[in-house]
Amino acid sequence: MRKHTITAVWEEIPDDADDLVLVRGGFRLYLCLCGTHLADRAAAELHAAETNQCTTCLGSATEEIVPGFSQECTACAGTGRRKAQLTWELAYVEAETMITVDLVRTVIAPFTEPFQLSLVADTVRSTLGLPVGRLPVGPRVRDVLRQLEAAGELTLVSAPDELLRGTTVVLYRDPYWQHASE
Ligand SMILES: [Zn+2]
Ligand SMILES: [Zn+2]
Repeated sequence: MRKHTITAVWEEIPDDADDLVLVRGGFRLYLCLCGTHLADRAAAELHAAETNQCTTCLGSATEEIVPGFSQECTACAGTGRRKAQLTWELAYVEAETMITVDLVRTVIAPFTEPFQLSLVADTVRSTLGLPVGRLPVGPRVRDVLRQLEAAGELTLVSAPDELLRGTTVVLYRDPYWQHASE
């Protein structure tokens, strides 16, 4: 069996590089051990899918977000496999259906102090009676809270845990929000 280990190699990154392009797979060369020509990120993702590997980490199980900063791939639960990625995607869709924006609003309504992502996720989990690990509750709750933040209902009060590229590419692990009216 041929190996399809896909390696991403960083190219020179200009100082004024577009951060979104950078974190989404730009400024890299993609090479597969089998010798298939991979022209860009899209070609690399397609080749990963064809060879049953995760299209986010391309089978490596880790994501290098900026040069020198990697984290375990969340899309495939750190397995590198396409099957795990698809299972996760289905579970996320189920979580989206169960954990509505209104449900999260109801859960956070009584909070008068800043509240942490993990606390909201735990409360949602116990409200719905979901065992830990049954659904990606944390990622779904995070997305809803970010949505409420974008809509102006919430304010993010935490400082980022990591500054990956100046102050534009940052990482929050378990941030706090508060109601915007307070
Ligand atoms: Zn290959
Ligand atoms: Zn992955």
